[in-house]
Amino acid sequence: MTKSGIYIHIPFCKRKCAYCNFYSLTLYENLIDGYLSALTGDIKEKGGRTDRLFDTVYIGGGTPSLLGGKVGVLLRAVTDNFNISKNAEITAEVNPDVSDEFLKIAFESGVNRISVGIQSGNDEALKVLGRNHTKAEAENAVERIKKAGFNNISADLMICLPNSNLNTLSKDIDFILSLDIPHISAYILKIEDFTKFGKTPQLLPDDDSQAEQYLYLCEELENEGYSHYEISNFCKPGFESRHNLKYWNCEEYLGFGPSAHSFFEGKRFFYPNDIKAYISNPTTLFDGIGGDESEKIMLGLRLKKGIDLSGILCDNKEDNIAFLSRLQSEKLININGTSVSLTDKGMLLSNSVITEILELL
Ligand code: SF4
Repeated sequence: MTKSGIYIHIPFCKRKCAYCNFYSLTLYENLIDGYLSALTGDIKEKGGRTDRLFDTVYIGGGTPSLLGGKVGVLLRAVTDNFNISKNAEITAEVNPDVSDEFLKIAFESGVNRISVGIQSGNDEALKVLGRNHTKAEAENAVERIKKAGFNNISADLMICLPNSNLNTLSKDIDFILSLDIPHISAYILKIEDFTKFGKTPQLLPDDDSQAEQYLYLCEELENEGYSHYEISNFCKPGFESRHNLKYWNCEEYLGFGPSAHSFFEGKRFFYPNDIKAYISNPTTLFDGIGGDESEKIMLGLRLKKGIDLSGILCDNKEDNIAFLSRLQSEKLININGTSVSLTDKGMLLSNSVITEILELL
């Protein structure tokens, strides 16, 4: 039987980064205890309704490290109420100002993977992004995370920053590699509405320079032994994010907290972005039936391993083969025996390539 995942959203941040559109609040101190109590109650209630085995837990945000030592209460609620497998991957996201107390309690409570938001190794760029840490503080955080006992560590890196170029990116890559960690998530900066960047125009690299940065990053990390296993994710062998793989493999997971989504027992549902409503009565909204063929193809194509070719040949076999051959000659996809996957260039253009492939169905 496939095992499921648990996601818990901690919607608190010390301040809002200029690019961020995740649901999080900066005035949160009076809400922490009420929120933890609502979360643990909800976890208890949902846990009592399933005997499913769960092998990943992901505490994300927001900034889970702002829970400090209280993270132990949350993890105890999870392990007391859900059937968590012995070798479960348990991840917590942290920012570089994570306290040693959080790291100690998280480690003692079973967290075995830390994902740290770093984004850049350039203090000027960090300021522009609205991050509340410096390069030196990020470096110190990774040292402390290792010292606390964690060896499965991921860092977020952001590319195509305002005024960036291959030279600035190369320094950021050198910095991230110098941290000697087994997993790197790298995202192209996208300007979203309702963010600080959305309201203040930024001088971003043009499309060609963005493509150049993405492909350069892929090459540099692959040369250093990191597998480009998903559009935005790179890892040393055996260090894939098992939790995030569930999303891309269309496996089931239960989410907790405002803005958290679930795919469970064939249905998709989510909690609205409203912490007060969650504290007073956690209620999900139905979001449709999940896991159909096109969704599996759309998600599976994000992965380096790709999908089974037979899933997209369908009725118009000849036409579809000709179409795929064209994508292959444009170096957008690899066809390997019975599977099809995106190349680095295809991953860069994944939105349009995946849309075109889905049109074959
Ligand atoms: S990027 Fe992370 S730390 Fe920054 S506001 Fe968003 S959730 Fe908070």
